[in-house]
Amino acid sequence: MPRERLYLFDTTLRDGAQTNGVDFTLADKLAIAGMLDELGVDYVEAGYPGANPIDTNFFLERRSMRARVTAFGMTRRPGRSASNDPGLVALLEAQADAICFVAKSWDYHVRIALETTEDENLASIRDSVRAAKAKGREVLLDCEHFFDGYKANSTYALSCAKTAYHEGARWIVLCDTNGGTLPHEVEEIVGEVCKVIPGDRVGIHAHNDTEQAVANSFAAIRAGARQIQGTLNGLGERCGNANLVSIIPTLKLKPEYADKFEINVSDAALGRILRISHGLDELLNRAPDRHAPYVGESAFATKAGIHASAIVKEPKTYEHIAPERVGNKRKLLVSDQAGRSNVLAELERIGVSLDKNDPRVTRLLDEVKEREAIGYAYEAADASFELLARRMLGQVPHYFDVEKFDVNVEQRNNAKGQRVTVSQAVVKIRVGDEELISVAEGTGPVNALDLALRKDLGKYQSFITGLTLTDYRVRILDGGTQAVTRVLIESTDETGEHWRTVGVSANIIDASFQALMDSIVYKLMKSGAPA
Ligand SMILES: [Zn+2]
Repeated sequence: MPRERLYLFDTTLRDGAQTNGVDFTLADKLAIAGMLDELGVDYVEAGYPGANPIDTNFFLERRSMRARVTAFGMTRRPGRSASNDPGLVALLEAQADAICFVAKSWDYHVRIALETTEDENLASIRDSVRAAKAKGREVLLDCEHFFDGYKANSTYALSCAKTAYHEGARWIVLCDTNGGTLPHEVEEIVGEVCKVIPGDRVGIHAHNDTEQAVANSFAAIRAGARQIQGTLNGLGERCGNANLVSIIPTLKLKPEYADKFEINVSDAALGRILRISHGLDELLNRAPDRHAPYVGESAFATKAGIHASAIVKEPKTYEHIAPERVGNKRKLLVSDQAGRSNVLAELERIGVSLDKNDPRVTRLLDEVKEREAIGYAYEAADASFELLARRMLGQVPHYFDVEKFDVNVEQRNNAKGQRVTVSQAVVKIRVGDEELISVAEGTGPVNALDLALRKDLGKYQSFITGLTLTDYRVRILDGGTQAVTRVLIESTDETGEHWRTVGVSANIIDASFQALMDSIVYKLMKSGAPA
């Protein structure tokens, strides 16, 4: 049976740009559009041309793409003609393949927010769709507050949708603008809409306010809708939009959808979805969500010892899909409860093969247990685990010694009489016969220490120039009267690889120092720096 085509509409650059703390530059927007095109979404909604300079410039500088670049804006203002509304004119002039209008479909909003009549709102929809069609654009209508509007006055909500449909809009998109609608309601209401508008002209735009935006999107598909709107990593205002990074693998890998529907995302592109998801986090300077479905680092991680031995024998027993399909990998966690099989599997992952009866495996396991008992967390610090294992095997070259370091924090008045806190670190390093002293100031003591440590490594300096810290976390572990501090650091380099290291001490600077040192040594080792 031929599969039905399902369309993906991404609004990361429009709705996603509303996220608290997200501020895309033009270069960010162009880069994200490229990522979305590589992924294979059908539509990329890029913003409101005419509303702000970045969005206006996006449409001037956009590159040619497979995806249809979509401009977003309002239908003509009440009481004006289409040609006499500057906002609408700017929208029509933008170099877009498609135009998505947003219009009210809740009678209450028409009267209160728009302060106009129900008929004038319908006329505004009709005129706007007509004007965009006359310009040769594909047209979409976002019916704002559709589900709440439908519950209040289904006849009027449907008239808004039907007006756009009869005027020739390609897609009528039902928006759960407040994000409070539940899946069974979405399924029922979309089912009713599909009785009067063919499902292959209906789209769903769900928000995540009850954490069901993905479920609501699938409910709409089950009821007949054939376009899903969403964002990368579920970006979006308040609790976010439907997460395309969760929706796409489900559509591709779950037979209920994969057997019935076809999307424009290839198997190869699906294999790159983790990289694309993490690429967006990188642009936003955020650490990826470790527990994200499909692409999170913990999505295919197993802890208990018995599971680990079973998973090596038959992965299907504990995994709902093969992690490689989405570019992820299986991860067996080394932890206090873990057995020998976990350690062996972790060793295999880093390319060390030892016989399970090798005494070194027992020694490593004992060492991991001992260190975890005092606060180390190797399951969250892959690079520190690798160093621990390779040190035991004599595979970590001795690069340099830190002979001493000194960190101080000073609070004083600056030249303008303002109170400032200044941190300075001095580090004395020995590399072979060479002794190096570096001094650095930082925003805080750990930052100063990090800068001083990495300032001058002598002959190794060129190996660490691409090293950057992307995350720094501190946790105070309750050890009764002797509380200890655990520091976890995430680093990355020019190759895009991420790794994590750990340090534990009663002193936060010392714990940070250990984690920083592990990160530098790991980088030197993986870059093949000579001993
Ligand atoms: Zn929205």
